[in-house]
Amino acid sequence: METSRYLTGILEKNGFRIERDYAGMPTAWVATWGSGKPVIALGSDIDCIPQASQKPGVAYHDPVLPGAPGHGEGHNSGVPLNITAALAVKKIMEREHLAGTIKLWPGVAEEVVGAKAYFIRAGLFNDVDISLFAHVGANFDTSWGASAGTGLESVEYTFKGESAHAAANPWRGRSALDAVELMDVAWNFRREHLRLQQRSHSVITDGGDQPNVVPSTATVWYYLRETDYAHIKELREIADRIAKAAASMTDTDVSSRLLGSAWPGNMSKPIAEAMYANATVVGLPKWDEADQALAKALQKELKQPEIGLPSEIPATKAGLAPDQNYGGGSDDIGDVSWTVPTATLRYPANIPNLPGHNWANAVAMATPIAHKGTTAGAKVQAMTVLDFLTRPELVRQAHEYFETTTTKDQKYQPLIGPDDKPAIHLNAKTLEQYRPAMRKYYFDSSKYKTYLEQLGITYPTVR
Ligand SMILES: [Zn+2]
Repeated sequence: METSRYLTGILEKNGFRIERDYAGMPTAWVATWGSGKPVIALGSDIDCIPQASQKPGVAYHDPVLPGAPGHGEGHNSGVPLNITAALAVKKIMEREHLAGTIKLWPGVAEEVVGAKAYFIRAGLFNDVDISLFAHVGANFDTSWGASAGTGLESVEYTFKGESAHAAANPWRGRSALDAVELMDVAWNFRREHLRLQQRSHSVITDGGDQPNVVPSTATVWYYLRETDYAHIKELREIADRIAKAAASMTDTDVSSRLLGSAWPGNMSKPIAEAMYANATVVGLPKWDEADQALAKALQKELKQPEIGLPSEIPATKAGLAPDQNYGGGSDDIGDVSWTVPTATLRYPANIPNLPGHNWANAVAMATPIAHKGTTAGAKVQAMTVLDFLTRPELVRQAHEYFETTTTKDQKYQPLIGPDDKPAIHLNAKTLEQYRPAMRKYYFDSSKYKTYLEQLGITYPTVR
């Protein structure tokens, strides 16, 4: 909520029209400026990672607030990149009287792939011609065609049994937790006979209250990942059958709820090539000794090769053939990529060879590494917007590629059903617990020039 208020505040001050509370999500918004065609959408994720609180600029584990969530991926750099780009482009559009509309949107709850399918359903992309996405990385990186990685259904299975005194009358109880454990055991046996491409993992979010009460409720939350729509659906059906079987073994009842979903990505060649050309013009930031010292110290801390920060941009590349895609992570930008011509710009605002979803991925944020990388990324994004604003043939090429290649054999059909609603309750408890203590760490730009200064951190702090 604070993030959304901060970001939309800047955009509103600069003349953008803001729609708040978008698609049934209190933290979602769409910011629009300009008029006419083409309509260019700029998106990037905004959410963080549980228990990833970390002091920026410090090359070892040292949380700002122990146990609190933190930016253990770097999603806090992406919308600033898009805002910087949008404000620069707006100035040029006004000066040169260029027609076109810029639409900014935040990837809300990306870590639980919770928003983008709902944005599509709400019509965010109905009038969009070109969609430029930005995601933090450790270098400039773009690709086109099928992305390496997976799509997924995120599903919660809730079992209901009957409580009883666990010592006095255990035979009168029906343990919902037994059902959860049996489902997990069954899934882990079944795993051997699933395609190598799948990724699946679960956490038990309700495992009962205390040992002397037979658990009458229990919940397990699965991410079921596969490399295409049909295989994702198949994985879900297997999980549904195993859940039913576990309920049957324990005489409990089971219900399921979809908490999030994502299609595997399929990116636009004309957009990715335009991004890459602009990245080579902008070039990588000039890292100084302090930046390299932080990067190498963190790599050493994590027992990784001490390669520091990159000095070369890798070539843009075609995505993988389906039989060569051996799985990996997901991002619900996949859904957008099947809806409108889209490409992702990875930009160099983080340190290479980090584990991901970890405190270490938060170290570079709010340091000169992130500031330089995000600013370089903003230049690339702005130049790419200008390419599409000033060269109608590029827009046409992107649409042609979308029709004749991206969606030739496969059309988008949402993994969310018409009755599914955004799972906005997720993380509510965590925020309730930590928000009051986090408040005093909000950046105060009236008092401090940088966040490192506010926290009193010497850059870099290494062992
Ligand atoms: Zn991400």
